[in-house]
Amino acid sequence: MTVATMGKHASLPEVGSRYQDARLYPHGVAFMDGQYLPMSEAKISVLDWGFLHSDATYDTVHVWEGRFFRLNLHLDRFFKGMEHLRMKLPYGREEIQQILSNCVALSGHKSSYVEMICTRGGSPTFSRDPREAENRFIAFAVPFGSVANKEQLERGLHVAVSETVRIPPKSVDPTIKNYHWLDLVKGLFDAYDFGAETALITDTNGNIAEGPGFNVFAVKDGKLKTPAFGVLPGITRQTVFDLCKEIGLSAVAEDLGRQELALSDEAFITSTAGGIMPVTRVNGSQIGDGRVGSVTAQLTELYWKKHADPAWSTAVVYP
Ligand code: PLP
Repeated sequence: MTVATMGKHASLPEVGSRYQDARLYPHGVAFMDGQYLPMSEAKISVLDWGFLHSDATYDTVHVWEGRFFRLNLHLDRFFKGMEHLRMKLPYGREEIQQILSNCVALSGHKSSYVEMICTRGGSPTFSRDPREAENRFIAFAVPFGSVANKEQLERGLHVAVSETVRIPPKSVDPTIKNYHWLDLVKGLFDAYDFGAETALITDTNGNIAEGPGFNVFAVKDGKLKTPAFGVLPGITRQTVFDLCKEIGLSAVAEDLGRQELALSDEAFITSTAGGIMPVTRVNGSQIGDGRVGSVTAQLTELYWKKHADPAWSTAVVYP
């Protein structure tokens, strides 16, 4: 008996085609349970602890013009996260790198958003003991996406600082990339209610922390500052530090007050999903002269240039 006929006999609602229609998924290729699959077929059990308890870690790297950007740093962070959460996979670093490259190559994408995930999985005996769970690895490559769209990149994002506080580091270590996003999603709704386009939320001391999928930088008198406490140390944030070093700009990770952000000359956010993205309004007030700043523009240009540099990027091998 298929699920659909079961539905008929037990007078359950017909299983709709909505969730099965491959056209409703972004074009891409996933790897899970030892197989490469179209995105529409990559599905996990609802009993996986990754789904039930957000018991998972992940990392996202991007491919730009056929090259992974800073893949080694993403793999380092992913393996550190798994170790911290006491997860183990049957794949080593080289195998995971190969799987990611295969997902991109099979998808055919030249610019791609590539995610690697390790979930707690589940126990074959339904034990509640996480030590008995078989951890699960999933990877996928879909088209490259950005936090900011073309228009926002040109004129700068409008951001609102939400009253929502980021989950305390003593509860969930923010340096381990995780799916504990209820605070970030609440921040987003607060921002939309305010009429802004995205959100920043605060740390437990009331300073600026980060946003849904990005870190933030403020520029004052040519010097850069990004929050140090209660945030994910983003690879794009690290890249900004590296670029600043190269061109002789001062950049520090320290507490960033709300007022300090409001009074900065320039601000931008950083993410694998979009790179360096300008912010020109915070809580309805303009930052600096309200236009994309020169430091932001200079770093953005250099950031994209580095994507072709073999010291910063690795070629995908397409068939
Ligand atoms: N902060 C959070 C909470 C994130 O989820 C992300 C990325 O998804 C970032 C910051 C930015 O990190 P990265 O530059 O490594 O993409």
